[in-house]
Formats: sequence, C-alpha cells, structure tokens
Amino acid sequence: MTETKSAEAASELHPELSARLRRAVADQADYLTDLLARLVRVPSVNPKFQVDPAFNRESAVQDVIEAELKALGFSTARSFPLPGRPNLIGKWTGSDARSLALCGHVDVVPHGDLGQWSFEAYGAEIVGDRLYGRGSCDMKAGLAAAIVACRAIAAAGITLEGRLEFHAVVDEEAGGEGAMAAAAASPGLAGVLITEPSGGVLRPWAGGLEWVRVTLRGLSGHSARRFASIYPSEAGASVPVKSVNAIELGARLLAAVRELETQWGISRRFPGMPAGMNTISPGVMISGCGEGPDGLPALLGNPAMVPDLCVIDFDMKFLPHERSADIRREFEDWIAHFAKTDPWLRDHPPEVRWELGKLHFPPVNTPLDHPLTRAVEASIIATGRQPEIAGMLGVTDAAHYAAKGIPAVVYGPTGGGQHGPDEFVLLSTVRDTAAVVADSIIRFCGVKD
Ligand SMILES: [Zn+2]
Repeated sequence: MTETKSAEAASELHPELSARLRRAVADQADYLTDLLARLVRVPSVNPKFQVDPAFNRESAVQDVIEAELKALGFSTARSFPLPGRPNLIGKWTGSDARSLALCGHVDVVPHGDLGQWSFEAYGAEIVGDRLYGRGSCDMKAGLAAAIVACRAIAAAGITLEGRLEFHAVVDEEAGGEGAMAAAAASPGLAGVLITEPSGGVLRPWAGGLEWVRVTLRGLSGHSARRFASIYPSEAGASVPVKSVNAIELGARLLAAVRELETQWGISRRFPGMPAGMNTISPGVMISGCGEGPDGLPALLGNPAMVPDLCVIDFDMKFLPHERSADIRREFEDWIAHFAKTDPWLRDHPPEVRWELGKLHFPPVNTPLDHPLTRAVEASIIATGRQPEIAGMLGVTDAAHYAAKGIPAVVYGPTGGGQHGPDEFVLLSTVRDTAAVVADSIIRFCGVKD
C-alpha cells in the first residue's frame, strides 16, 4: 500500500513546487561550492590504509556536517562503529512509511605520492568547472550536494511527510563498517539515496562481491627427487619418498575456477550490467613450505624444497539478482567436484574460507518500479535531462543497506582521478546532484500541506 501511494505521489508532484525547489537549489550554488571546499580541506584518510592523525580527521569532517544539519533543525547523534571513528546520523521528524536516508561516506583513500599531484591534495583549488582534491569526487561532493538539497527544502518552506535522515558514515573505502552499523540501527527506513559519484547515471543495481581464500595442501620433499613423483615407474622402489607440489595443485585449481568463471560469464546475464561482469579474479597466490599461524606459508625462498602449501585469494563478483549464499554454495561444490577428479586432492580436499578481511558485499537490486527509483528518475526528467539507468560496477555502501532489506539507489556527480592523483569533480554536476536529490526527497517523502 505504502509503495503504491508514494509511487503515485512521485508522478503527481506539482510542477510549481518542483520549480520553486529548483530555484532554491540554484540560489545555493555559491554556498555549495564553498561547503565542498571546506569539506575537502579537512583530510579524512581512512586509518585502515594509513595511520597519521594529521590526515585521519573523519571526526572533524563530521563536525562540519553536524553544524550544517543542526542549523537546519536536524536532531543529530554520533555512534562509533570503530574506535575514535564516528558515524553522524541526523533526523528530521516524519513518518516511517515514507522515510528516506541520504547517505555519504566521510572517509577518503590516501593521497599517495604527493609528487604526482599537480594541485594541492587538500587545497580544493578551482580551475574552470573543476574542483581538485582528494575526496572531492569520492565523495565530499555528494555529501555537500545532499546537505544543500536539505537547505533548499528548508529555504523553500517545505515540510516533509516522511522522515528524512542524513547518514554521514565512516569506513566505506575499507569495507563499510560505518554503513553496516547505520543500516543495522535503521530498521524502519523505507529507502536510502547514496550520492556517490555515479556520473549522473541512476544506479539502482550493483553486483555482489566476495573475497574468498582457497588453501591447498601438498607434500614437501627434496626437489632432486621430483622425478620420482612425476615419473613413478622410472624411480621404482629405490626412491620411496614422493612429494606433491602445492604450486601445481594451485595451477590446476586456477584452471578449474577459470572454467566456472567462463560458465557464469556466458550463461548468466542481468540487464543493465555488462555481459561477463560476474568474474572470479585470482588476486593473490602464495606458495611455500609449512603453515604459519596466519595460514600463509612459513617458509619462502628455497626452490630446492617442494612447496606443500598454496594459498589463493579470489575477488568474486556476481550479479544483482543472485544471492550470496547460493553463489558460495556453488563455488564450494565446484571446488569439491574438482578435488574428486584428482587422486591426491580427493584425500586432501582444498579448504575454502569466506569473508577474507571481513569483506562481504551482498548485491543491490532495487526494482525499476520501486518508488525510490521512480522518484529519482522523475527528478532527473524534472531537471531537464533524459534519465540514464544502469548498474554500478563497483561496490558501495548501498550493499550494506540492501543486506538489511532497505532499498538503495545511487545517484551523484561526475569527476575523475578517484583513488589516484589530481582527483576532481565537475562543479556543474554537483549542482545538478543537489537539484536531483532535493526533488527526489520531496517526491519520495511527500510534502505536508
Ligand atoms: Zn566513494
């Protein structure tokens, strides 16, 4: 019932109201640029990548955002999903049924080699339509646009029917523990709009992502006796000690996994995602002798020893309509079947371990006819553009909301250099994002008469 009601509201929005709101956003253009610059000038490098208090200032970014939200009448609260790293949640009162969260992450990736930057990494320098700096595009622009959308709604004198929340979260760049905590604490939420840089494309879908480790165990021995393993008839009984090379077990496993990947790629498709994006990429392969407490080889660097341990870490992407649990079972079954075809592995089956580095991103699959997707689509049209709708190739915090049953879509600005030098965002697209977000909010949350 609720969905139907707000879907109708999305198409019913009075054009005068939409136009008034657009003018209110346009009036905030200078404020938006200034706010973005202020956010970029506070370095907030995720400390999981680089510990340096001068740059790990997520909390100081939250201070800026909190002051903005409080000035607009939001109630605000902080929680700590990780020690010393606060989430900030702001709320305007309103109904559960049409509640919406605007979500953005405050952490950024490290600036890397400053010598490769042509601009000050945290200078927020403006050249033409570009504003440069680490985090400018990913994703302080989206945060600034979302704040300005709220400012415009307040300036236009609009009171929302549904509750609007603002989730400024930590840690997106290193797994999303901030969004996981925010989603877990928001059971009644009807939707979340994430203003990650989407290039002006509405992205209601994203594939899932898993990191999985496969450990293969062989049998160590002297390399001089390898011939006894590979030509057993030559050696006869004179060389009884045979070895099983774990690197070679790993190579065979890689080939088998590549076959599964090919099957997935050619037999499964999700409209709106490129064919074959469901890959199983081997990212780390390490082999040696003995097993250390961390599960990795204890001894490396002696080719005269036949390695008895091979560890392979895969980065596995699957489609928006697939389920993590099914994908995991399918991969495990494939590995088990592969092991049965090998005389050694039949008795020494490979071990599969999920959530390597705690990483686990369920897919996002918000329907096209969901009120939130429809609201953002209608808002793009209202701002004078043809909507483009496609899946998201990378993973975002949307996954953690989707995992809790909260429908999520991503819409945000355009830029370049994310995660590299000279990151920038196009200011015109940040203004566009603010206009689309403001319009989407009143369509989804509804307006009180
Ligand atoms: Zn991001």
